[in-house]
Amino acid sequence: MIRCLDSVRFTLITPALVRILDCLASCDFDPLITSAADGISHHVGAHARGEAVDIRVFDLVDLPARRARQTLIASRLGPLFTVLLEPDDIPGDTAAPHIHIQLKIGAVYPPGPPSGATTAA
Ligand SMILES: [Zn+2]
Repeated sequence: MIRCLDSVRFTLITPALVRILDCLASCDFDPLITSAADGISHHVGAHARGEAVDIRVFDLVDLPARRARQTLIASRLGPLFTVLLEPDDIPGDTAAPHIHIQLKIGAVYPPGPPSGATTAA
């Protein structure tokens, strides 16, 4: 079951956010969302666009366990999404440990038909 900190705000619900939440709901652990569109540093970027969430990793005792969870989420979401273990994956980042999940920069979700494709009438 997905849980959220009381401070979490979803100000914009996008298809990408629904996809992320659906993925988290189907995982075999209980994710705790620590941030969505809230937070001082989230007034711009994927969080502000309703395309990102952060989840807590304090329940995972070491880096290999955190990487395993990151890999699991990334593999379930597929190539249109970015899943980062912060601060490890961001040089100079001093944030508390968490997994950041967002629609990949420049990606569109849901993806449209391939260029030049036609649809049946
Ligand atoms: Zn984030």
